[in-house]
Amino acid sequence: MRVFLLMLLMVSIMGPSAYGQGSLNAIVDGLTNIEYDFSRWPYPLYAEVSERLQELAVQYPEIANLQTIGKTAEGRDIWLMEITSSSTGSGDSKPGLWIDGNLHAHEVNGRVRAMYFIERLLATYGVDEVVTRLIDSRVFYIVPMFDADGGERSLTRHPAWTGHEPNRQAGSDLNGDGYISSMRIKDPDGWWYESPQDSRVMLRLRARDDGRWNYVATEHDETKYWRSSGQQVVGSTTVGAASRWMSTGEGPPPIEHQVPPEERYSIYTEGMDSSYPIDDINLTVNGFERNVGMESPPSDFNRDWGAEWRPDEPGGGPFPFSVPEVRAAAYFITEHKNIFFQYNMHADQTARNYTARPGLHHPYDWMAPEDNEFYTRIGAVWSAMGGGNIIENNYYSQEIAAGAYTDVQHGCEIDWAYISRGIHALMPEGMAIGKDYDGDRYVTVQEILRWNDEDKEGKFWGHWESFQHPTLGVVEIGGPLGIPPALDERMREESNLHYRFLLHIADLAPALKIADLSAERIAEGEYRVVARLQNQGYLATYVSRKALEIRRDNPILARLEIDTGEVLGGGALQNAGHILGKHSYLWRWGAGADESTKTVEWRVRAESGAEVSIEVRAAQAGRDRRTIILEG
Ligand SMILES: [Zn+2]
Repeated sequence: MRVFLLMLLMVSIMGPSAYGQGSLNAIVDGLTNIEYDFSRWPYPLYAEVSERLQELAVQYPEIANLQTIGKTAEGRDIWLMEITSSSTGSGDSKPGLWIDGNLHAHEVNGRVRAMYFIERLLATYGVDEVVTRLIDSRVFYIVPMFDADGGERSLTRHPAWTGHEPNRQAGSDLNGDGYISSMRIKDPDGWWYESPQDSRVMLRLRARDDGRWNYVATEHDETKYWRSSGQQVVGSTTVGAASRWMSTGEGPPPIEHQVPPEERYSIYTEGMDSSYPIDDINLTVNGFERNVGMESPPSDFNRDWGAEWRPDEPGGGPFPFSVPEVRAAAYFITEHKNIFFQYNMHADQTARNYTARPGLHHPYDWMAPEDNEFYTRIGAVWSAMGGGNIIENNYYSQEIAAGAYTDVQHGCEIDWAYISRGIHALMPEGMAIGKDYDGDRYVTVQEILRWNDEDKEGKFWGHWESFQHPTLGVVEIGGPLGIPPALDERMREESNLHYRFLLHIADLAPALKIADLSAERIAEGEYRVVARLQNQGYLATYVSRKALEIRRDNPILARLEIDTGEVLGGGALQNAGHILGKHSYLWRWGAGADESTKTVEWRVRAESGAEVSIEVRAAQAGRDRRTIILEG
């Protein structure tokens, strides 16, 4: 009920035209479910997804254009599906939305969601009014398998799985159980300790700035935190959960747990040596390396982007854009100036469910108020649609409130989008394993373990068992085993959520139109041509204040063409600057204000009966063209 009321509230705040023809309701209610197997497991491999993309391009030639934006490190094509109606103009003449999935190797849910988005968009063109309008007026660039190599390694990782190639994997199956899982070894300097609640779960320590070892929020505790803060924030105008509880004095669990050296462990990938230490918190749940790499040094595809990149960032690689896949994507995005939004879908398979916003290391007021307000509004929509926790960033992580903020995650895609390109961006995390036993819409690690034990016969999370290692002595092998199947209903729910939210985002693009074109005779053989330009979209034509600040905005260019005659003074081509969108003037002056038009004038010398055409374009706001006959 609360969700429904908030949706109505959002519509009334923004007014129906912010979404086109009342499209928000249509997006929510007009679900046209297509056939899609959400419980598919094992997940489809690269070859199968590639084949399906090719089939779709053949099946929908008018709206689907499959391209490759480059090659992966191992020589696979990085597929990009471009979806737009070719009958209404080329893709790059329309506002563009970039969507990528499976950027992190093991986050294969991202490829499922991206493929679902593609399938449903294509299948409902001409059927669903909103989809039809968006495909006609926007372009979607979707990369379902960003890290195609890593995805393949993750999905063929275990000896018992199809396609397994031992020489492509880090680690090996020492105990012969069919899995390459984890080895833990007692180590007084180790970063891990055993959860007091379940001995299978390993929790991570982290050093504070003062060098003291401290308890930090773990998956389990973090879940409690996210859950409580998320509930408080729904319906409020506060963007982030964290800022909310910081202001109310509520915080994460107190720092109280000092772990003695004899209870600490180091964890490695199961294998002949300790070449592959595990130091990522996600691995407590997943048991997979990010971008499972045999290369040295391994790079994290979401630490390699050239904004706020740091050489000391774990996974940052030797220099920005050192990863060919990241370079290919950045090149495509830079070349396509029409892209106004980047959606970088993650699927950590942890219990977290949120979407991160750019400025990962900055308080919200670091961002221009107008941009900050934009994230507040889309965050409220995300939450109202069922997105769980509202938009977050790292600065407001639980650790900073605990006085132990660790400044990590530099060089991320969304920061590059916003900071270097002035493009709005979001980084949603997903969760699609486990079971929500208590019905609170969040799944804790304890609930994942219970699901593993009761529904999955313990197949996805093992106990630690002692093993005599050939060179390392006694070790224990166990932990998470393999990529578990997504639960059908949750995968369906999440895929629908992202689908609907993305249509909403697409709807917020600036939309440049010639609202009115007139000409009057001002002297013998001389006319004044006046075009009234309008931004019918939600965002301003500059998209973000950041874009203006870094001069990556794409101004409106208006060109006059005349069949017989000449343009007097000023030239045929004019830079018309920018026009605010509904967001800008709502935010500045409130409902009722309208700064969405701008007038451009030319003087021409021509005979009566001459034909004058005006074409306007702004890279991220689309194009429009109108013709008038000079008379009088
Ligand atoms: Zn990820």
